[in-house]
Amino acid sequence: MIQSLSHVLRNEMVAPSYGRIALACGTPFGRSRPGQFVMLGFPGSIEPLLRRPFSIHRLIVEAGQVSGVELLYKTIGPATRRMAALRPGDPVSLMGPLGSAFRVPPDSRRVYLAGGTESMSRMPFRDSRDSIAAISGSRNEVILAVILGAPLPR
Ligand SMILES: Cc1cc2nc3c(=O)[nH]c(=O)nc-3n(C[C@H](O)[C@H](O)[C@H](O)COP(=O)(O)OP(=O)(O)OC[C@H]3O[C@@H](n4cnc5c(N)ncnc54)[C@H](O)[C@@H]3O)c2cc1C
Repeated sequence: MIQSLSHVLRNEMVAPSYGRIALACGTPFGRSRPGQFVMLGFPGSIEPLLRRPFSIHRLIVEAGQVSGVELLYKTIGPATRRMAALRPGDPVSLMGPLGSAFRVPPDSRRVYLAGGTESMSRMPFRDSRDSIAAISGSRNEVILAVILGAPLPR
């Protein structure tokens, strides 16, 4: 686990109240596994006092090296509203990767991953087995497509 000063690479709203933010980070985050999360804070700021947890949605890889993490967030309170206002270059503080990764027993034949919008924002398994199926419910079909990496509905 590391704590690092990071900055925003990209930040966009992908659906009403849902944002996708890309944050620069060092290669130690390359050890992140599906199911793990980061604690995000705002350096030099008292409010919000506590860091907030966000699942790692995707690792950003450039020239074979992990250069960032992507998070999906729902604006719900002070921290996520502030996240929505972040612009490229703005500083954030990241602590991670944290939490227990999903463990898929090697002899498993079929794995189902089920959850709602936030629990399914987690990064996909780097696993070529097609026996891993994700089942997700969401009230918003755009955010569901973003989570599952499917084409956006028109
Ligand atoms: C391990 C972990 C991973 C998480 N991953 C993600 C993620 O990938 N994306 C994401 O958007 N969120 C995720 N969350 C939830 C996220 O951390 C909270 O939504 C966050 O605390 C919001 O901070 P805030 O300051 O905006 O709102 P807060 O001030 O923390 O909350 C504002 C109000 O909303 C309520 N609230 C907070 N979270 C929720 C919720 N999830 N559902 C319903 N009511 C809630 C609070 O009780 C409070 O009343 C994760 C939480 C955990 C524990």
